[in-house]
Amino acid sequence: MAAKSNCKKARKEKRQTLSDSEEMCEECNKEVSSDDKALVCSLCDKWFHIKCQRVSVSDYDFLIKSDDSIQWFCKSCKGASQKVFKMLTLVHKRQDQLESEMKNLSKNVQECNGNITDLKANLHSVVSCTVKDILDEKHEESARVNNLIFFNLKDNGNISTDKDTLKSILEEVLGLPGAIGHVDASSITRLGKFDNKSVRVRPLRVRIENRDIRGAILRNAFRMKNNEQFSKVGIGRDLTVKQRETNRELRNEWAIKRKDDPNKNWGIRRDKIVELPKVTHTDAAGDGKAN
Ligand SMILES: [Zn+2]
Ligand SMILES: [Zn+2]
Repeated sequence: MAAKSNCKKARKEKRQTLSDSEEMCEECNKEVSSDDKALVCSLCDKWFHIKCQRVSVSDYDFLIKSDDSIQWFCKSCKGASQKVFKMLTLVHKRQDQLESEMKNLSKNVQECNGNITDLKANLHSVVSCTVKDILDEKHEESARVNNLIFFNLKDNGNISTDKDTLKSILEEVLGLPGAIGHVDASSITRLGKFDNKSVRVRPLRVRIENRDIRGAILRNAFRMKNNEQFSKVGIGRDLTVKQRETNRELRNEWAIKRKDDPNKNWGIRRDKIVELPKVTHTDAAGDGKAN
């Protein structure tokens, strides 16, 4: 702000240098003569008799002796300038806030950029890992697709006994003569190490290349229940760890569904819970689900 503390003397100089026109007091509209004590406003540049603005003579004497750093404002400019100063203070405050917000923002942006860089660096390995997992799982599934598992089949650690038992189950219990011919004899294995002290019965895994025979075994598995010797034996698909997990979750979900809505016939078809038509007692056991 230009410092300007004018007085009578200054006015005279101005008048001599600029023009001969009379200066008028903005307040009383009368001339400001060279003998009048008068001040010019630093803001609006208008002249005022000090008595018109109620400036004391001592203040006036102080002002005319002081240098340009002390400014005098007329009453109306003083009011307006106070508003402006208030506004400026607010503007400065807002500016400070904005600046600190900007600083935080740019810090966040920098952090984000860092994260994106990390992400880019890791993305390739994450994606290739996921793809590898999926391929591994698919490979596992297809390697097991022809297998069946016999659960709770008495285990004495002798695989040739197992082969004989399997033959009699397929032919006599399930009523599938010739089915044993489709069983890959070399595939008949017990899963895990034999331990005659253990109460755990190792599952028996069998590979059956013929799809129809495999389906027939699963469909007829319910007949095991009626056989005294094998009533505890179950037959199921050879599932991967992941499939077993999915299966478990699906069965939990199924149990909830049946509890919530017991009037409907809920079933699991192709890894989904679906509503089935109401069953009559005659075909209730034909599902082939043995585990
Ligand atoms: Zn006046
Ligand atoms: Zn003024």
